[in-house]
Order: sequence, then structure tokens, then C-alpha cells
Amino acid sequence: MKTAIYPGSFDPVTYGHIDIIERAAKLFDRLIVLVSTNPTKPPTFSPAQRVDFLQRSLRKSLTTPEVNIEIDCHSGLFIDYFKKRGANVIVKGLRAMSDFEYEFQMALLNKDMCLGAETVFLSANVASMFLSSSAVKQIAQFGGDISAFVPHQIADDITNHLSTRSG
Ligand code: ADP
Repeated sequence: MKTAIYPGSFDPVTYGHIDIIERAAKLFDRLIVLVSTNPTKPPTFSPAQRVDFLQRSLRKSLTTPEVNIEIDCHSGLFIDYFKKRGANVIVKGLRAMSDFEYEFQMALLNKDMCLGAETVFLSANVASMFLSSSAVKQIAQFGGDISAFVPHQIADDITNHLSTRSG
């Protein structure tokens, strides 16, 4: 059984992430979407909120028995989690060359720390290659409409959270 892990901040999840999740789920027997902590990017939403956003956005897939997607959360070293779960593949999305340098470095480091850890890069969809969590947050903060960028189940919660914070 091939288990893949798609790690990210998902702060919050966007249609770009959803696209990668849906495509990756078709390629592997099991896909774990892992909400992780990037020490260089302090998150806006708590790990529990980010997991909740993913669960609500993916509810349809999560309740379809033949779709094997799991959502989890981890705050330590990613490769320790990868080994503990007996995973085979790390999934990453690439929007542009700007993503590549960092992701390529991470792929090499992970392979160095765990020989079996192969990273598979999926290219972003043309429709969402401009999309990032931080852009969505900036738009929401100023009361802009984010419904084209994030699932409708979570759009209002994101806007309310950010507009309250920015006063
Ligand atoms: P962000 O850069 O939006 O904060 P994350 O840390 O949550 O993203 O990203 C997790 C993974 O998802 C990374 O591999 C990233 O390249 C990928 N990703 C993020 N946004 C998109 C998108 N719009 N299309 C494809 N992949 C994406």
C-alpha cells in the first residue's frame, strides 16, 4: 500500500491546495493531509482551526468510502512523522519557479534523513497558480470577496476572523 503525505501550513486551505489534494488522492492508496508548523511562518489560524477548515472543505471526499484521505496535525520534525506513519511519498505542489528552490532543497534534505522518502511534485492548476494563503488573508482582511479562492464552507469564518483582528 502506497501512503503519501501532503504537508503544509494550510493557513487557511485554498482551492489551490484542494486541487492538489484531489489529484494526489487518485495517485496513492492513502493520502494524509498534514497540517504542520513552519517556524518561519507564524500562523494566523490555530492548528485546530486549520484542521477544521480542511475537514469542512473536504467533507464530501472524507465521507466517500473509496476516497482514502486523512487529515492530521503535527508540530515536530516532519520526517519523524513520515517514518512513524510508514509513508512512502511526500506530495508537494509547485506554483512557479519561486516554489521550486525551497521545495527542491526540502526534498533533498528529507531524502537525506530518510532514504525511502521520495517527493512527488504536482504542478499547480493554471486556474490556481496565482493563489496563496497569504494573498487570501490580505484580501479578507480588507473585507474583499474571497469566495473564488476558498471553499464556501469556510469563506465567512476566514473573513470574520480577519476583519475582527484588523479592527
Ligand atoms: P502557502 O505558500 O500558500 O502558505 P502551504 O505551506 O500551505 O502554502 O503549502 C503547502 C503546499 O501546497 C506546498 O507544496 C505549496 O507549494 C502548495 N501550494 C500552495 N498553494 C498552492 C496552489 N495555489 N497551487 C498548487 N500548490 C499550492
